[in-house]
Amino acid sequence: MTKAIAILLAGAAIALGQSSATKAIDSAAQALGGKDKILAIQTLSMEGAGKVYNIGQNPFPEGPLPTWWVAEYKRTIDVAHQRAHTEQHRLAMFPFALAIDLRLNQNLDGDVAFNINPDGGAQRVAKAVAADRRIEMLDTPVTIVRAALDPSAKVGSPRKRGTAEAIDITTEQGDKLTLGLDATTHLPAWVSWTSSSENLGDVLNTTSFENYETVSGIQLPKRYVTKMDFRGWLTSDFDVAKNTVNGDVGDLAAPAAVKSAAAPEPPVPTVDAQQVAKGIWWLAGTGGNAFSILFEFDDHLTLFEAPTSEASTKAVIDKARSLVPNKPLTEVIVTHHHFDHSGGLRTAVAEGLTVISHQGNESIFKEMTSRKATVKPDLLTKSGKTLKFRGMDDTLVLKDGSMEVDLFKLHDNTHSPYLIAAYVPRDNLLVQGDLIDMTWIRHPWAENYRQNLAMRNIHFTKDLPVHGRIATFDEEMAALAEMEERTK
Ligand SMILES: [Zn+2]
Ligand SMILES: [Zn+2]
Repeated sequence: MTKAIAILLAGAAIALGQSSATKAIDSAAQALGGKDKILAIQTLSMEGAGKVYNIGQNPFPEGPLPTWWVAEYKRTIDVAHQRAHTEQHRLAMFPFALAIDLRLNQNLDGDVAFNINPDGGAQRVAKAVAADRRIEMLDTPVTIVRAALDPSAKVGSPRKRGTAEAIDITTEQGDKLTLGLDATTHLPAWVSWTSSSENLGDVLNTTSFENYETVSGIQLPKRYVTKMDFRGWLTSDFDVAKNTVNGDVGDLAAPAAVKSAAAPEPPVPTVDAQQVAKGIWWLAGTGGNAFSILFEFDDHLTLFEAPTSEASTKAVIDKARSLVPNKPLTEVIVTHHHFDHSGGLRTAVAEGLTVISHQGNESIFKEMTSRKATVKPDLLTKSGKTLKFRGMDDTLVLKDGSMEVDLFKLHDNTHSPYLIAAYVPRDNLLVQGDLIDMTWIRHPWAENYRQNLAMRNIHFTKDLPVHGRIATFDEEMAALAEMEERTK
């Protein structure tokens, strides 16, 4: 084959691909109400109610996720100006130690993401949030089809995915999504995109569009269900009571002060090591609100908790190695699977640490650490390492000439039935995550905490926590009583 013919054939293949892609997108626009009508839409609004799920915070790793009931849900998109506004009134349907009644007001104006506080003050938020909200704005049939119709978008040839025709779309801004069209009606059935998670690596998210209705000649879904490709977890489920096309949505532009403010940069984690006893450091820092604790044994170091993120946990691991440079850090105790506590699990595995936890957490930890991260390649994906796990049931004693750490499982703990904590007999120290945090506003499992301390005969001098501050037994019991009073 001559070079010229090869180029010609390649060109024909691209032209063929483009035409089948264009045809598919046109058929979707037609099904939604017509291409001209779709392109003429100025605004979309939806009002309703639904549920948002607390990802990675289920008590049992195999159990259902805790649910926020979204009593009021309003979403407005100024399609013409690329602006979006979302309001949610969330109520926690689960026992929670922090605010259980939240009002969120989240906005996007082009590349500028900002939140409006209940007092009316507006604050610019991070660039990563703006990127998420740009995807969210495309997460409706009209907006994704309009983005695909934009001449500067790249649209791939349709392929089969399940029963749908799947079309890859790269928007003018460079966002990559896949649109699924119903093979019979050509209506958008779903849209999917890949995001990055500290706990899970790449996450494929899919929003299904259900129960279409006709409003002002446009087909609009009355239900949006978003799922992730991890254990079938649902992210959100919204029912739309009222869809509006081209209603007056007011001015959704970012206030001038917000626009001119710099987007906040993610904090650079720093670790502040506080030596509490011989061979024991509380590693607090600014990279998150969850901390680690370091134990020095005869010939190795053991970390307690790998929380928050790769950046936080890597900073903690580096600090541990610099504190005791002549002994290797070989293992990490992970109290439970909750995602604030396991944000650095992948990092710990990448650094070769053996993970010690309750045996009930093994399968979720294995799944969490066997996923790839390509959107934001992480240390685990680069290392190619796999989980080394040491499981325990009721108790496990880690002991040598230098150190003794007694691990125990919390009995009948409703926060997480596979929660473990540590006790250091030599110094009478408790080391724990989520048994108590001195900054909690209420304590739904206060009685369980007291009972477990009594059962294990622990009357500690100091508690070194993952969240909050170091406290004495008496300080904590006083705080517990106060937290309980607030729940009455
Ligand atoms: Zn927890
Ligand atoms: Zn926690």
